[in-house]
Parts: sequence; structure tokens; C-alpha cells
Amino acid sequence: MSKVIAVGCGRYDLAAVTIKLEAALEALGGIHHLIPRGSRVFLKVNLLTGRPPEEAVTTHPVVVQAVAALLKDAGMEVVIGDSPAGPFTAARMKQIYRVTGMEAAAAAAGVSLNENLEAAMISHPQAHRLKQFEMMTAVQEADTVISLCKMKTHSMTLMTGAVKNLFGVMPGLTKAALHFRFPQLADFAHAMVDICEKVNPVLSIMDGIEGMEGAGPSAGTVTPAGVLLLSTNPHQLDLAAARWMGISPDQVPLLAAARERGLYHPGDAASVPPGGAMTTQWVSLTPEAAAVKPFQTPVIHEPDFLRRYQQVPLLGPGLAAVSNRWLRPRPVVIPEKCISCSECKIICPAAAITMVNRRPEFDLTKCIRCFCCQEICPAKAIEIYRSALLKKMAP
Ligand code: SF4
Ligand code: SF4
Repeated sequence: MSKVIAVGCGRYDLAAVTIKLEAALEALGGIHHLIPRGSRVFLKVNLLTGRPPEEAVTTHPVVVQAVAALLKDAGMEVVIGDSPAGPFTAARMKQIYRVTGMEAAAAAAGVSLNENLEAAMISHPQAHRLKQFEMMTAVQEADTVISLCKMKTHSMTLMTGAVKNLFGVMPGLTKAALHFRFPQLADFAHAMVDICEKVNPVLSIMDGIEGMEGAGPSAGTVTPAGVLLLSTNPHQLDLAAARWMGISPDQVPLLAAARERGLYHPGDAASVPPGGAMTTQWVSLTPEAAAVKPFQTPVIHEPDFLRRYQQVPLLGPGLAAVSNRWLRPRPVVIPEKCISCSECKIICPAAAITMVNRRPEFDLTKCIRCFCCQEICPAKAIEIYRSALLKKMAP
């Protein structure tokens, strides 16, 4: 059984975060038990988009710096990287590295930022859905990967953690295309688990010092969560995180997919390490012991039969249109917030967005409800609308 180590940590103080991470790694058997000295480690951070650390959209640079420095001191060669939402270009990466604090964190820790934008197709014969996909070359060339994720809610998958973070090994807009290929949430969740299985991170670490609740992963509200989580099993870590956030694991599609495949133990959410001087810094992750208030979750609820209904052509386009407009949650623009950047149009995998009078308009007959548009919007100008009828059907 895989352990999850949870350590209470209330602020982004480099010395405090470092001490706690050191203790947590010891509790997992020590860094060299996990990763041989001299390994090239790809530190897969969450850099969804170019937002400053205090907005809690991305992994905090203090946590990144602490992890990178610990690895470097242990004799590893460390590369920090991600492929954010939207185009994967040198100019965009430079801006995102700077704004998110990664540039400074890497410099302070004496490690590199990934600048290799190449990707190559890999095969994954054991996959349940995704038997081939493009993966960043820098990830393929690494000896091992650490998923260094952020504790956040997610408008499509309810929460994002160690497993969903690895979606970013796919380059640029290929991620959005995957939404179009797997419009059904259960299939998409299995595809995410396939990617995770292929990447096979040796360690997952979640920055839950501050998290994001509500309309995550980018348009929500910052909330203190006071914890760092570590595990060698990314699914087990996400299970622990769900409980910490007050989210029922049964409602999380990625956890459901992993559970179906026997990839974690539903009853083994946490481990309290042995006593000693550090004991008071460790917390149990049972829901009763959670010191944090439950996270507000996104308003994505949609009755299962509506998802299935979209797949039944016999019901005809007329009824599908009614369902699309009145029953399913849908993106809407807040015109006064929109800065007309067109990022939503660029990322939309279904080509459902056109810019009219410098504002997005949504073709709901094409929209697959991936909510990538909301995720990438830099101005929080896209919200998810639920009709009164849908609220009654799926409160
Ligand atoms: S309009 Fe938004 S939610 Fe709909 S398919 Fe495009 S990106 Fe996804
Ligand atoms: S809705 Fe957001 S992403 Fe779309 S054009 Fe406006 S500001 Fe840009």
C-alpha cells in the first residue's frame, strides 16, 4: 500500500517549507530510496497559464524552489517545466516562467527551466483509451518525473491534482484536441489515467498551502488549505487531497477511473509517520481530522442521462439543441470583463467560438463543455451558466 504523507504548512516560507519537505521525504524512505543519485529529474509543475503566484493558479515558486534545491543537493540534475494551456511557444514560455516566479525559483535553486519545445509521438499499448499520444521530448529524455501539482478545483474534472497535472506533458493545443476526441467525461478521465500510467511519476507532491476553490482551475478563489501532500502513488495522493478539500472521491472522475483499474486503495488515504520531534507537524487526513473548511466546488453538475442523451442520434438535432441550450451547463461571457484577447477562440477544440464585436459567441451545438475557454481566459470573463431547470434537476 502506498503512503500519503501530509504535513501542515501555513505559509510560503522557504526555510519552513524546506524543513517540512525534508521530513516528509524521510518518512517516505529518503530521497535516494526513491531516485538514484545522478538522475535527470523532470519537475512537472502546474503552469496552466501566466498568472502570479498569489492567484494560486500555478504551483507556488517557493515550493518549486525548495523541491528543486533538495533534489540538486541530493545530486540530481533538475529540469523544471510544463506545457501550459494554449500554444507552446518560446515567447509564451518565457512570459509564463517570469510571471509565475519559475524563472527566479530555478535561478535560486541553481537548476534549469525546460526550453525544449519539441514533442514526439509515443505508444502506450496497455492504455485503456490513449494508445498513442504526443509527449514533450524533455519528459521522454528524463530518467524520472515528479508531479509537483497544485490543490485546486476544476470546472470539468471537479478537482485537479497529481494525475491531471501530467496532462501537461502533452504539448500545447494537442491537449485541447484531446477534449474533442474524448467528449465523454469518463473516457477523458481514463485518458488522463493512461497518461499518468505512461509517465509513471516516481513521486507526487501537492502544494496545498494555498489552494483554489470555486471556478477552478483558474477563475476560482484563493483559499488557505495549510498542507503539503507527498506520495509515490499519484492516485492515492489525489484521494487524500479530495478528502482534505471536502470533496467526495466518488464524484471525482479521475479517481473513479483509477479505482476501476485498481490503482489505489480507497481505504488508505493517509499515513501518519512515526512519532518523534516532528510528530506535531504531521496530520491525519481522515475527513473528521481535516482542519480546513470544505472547498466550494464548481457548478458542473449535470445529470448522467443528459451526457448519455447527447450520444443518441435518434432523438434528433431539435431535441439536442433544446438540451444544449436549456439543460446542460454552458459557457457565457461577462462582456464588461472581456479584454478581447481571443485566447478562448484559439484554444476551443470544437471551433465553437467566434469573435463578434470583439467578444466571444458560443455555438452550443458544437460546444463539448470542456470549459477550456474558461480555464484559459486571463480576465475571468467566462462563467458557467446553469439554467433554473438544470438546477432543479441537478441541484
Ligand atoms: S466553447 Fe468552451 S466549453 Fe465549449 S468546446 Fe469550446 S472551449 Fe470547450
Ligand atoms: S472571454 Fe476571456 S479569453 Fe475570451 S476574448 Fe474575452 S478576455 Fe479573452
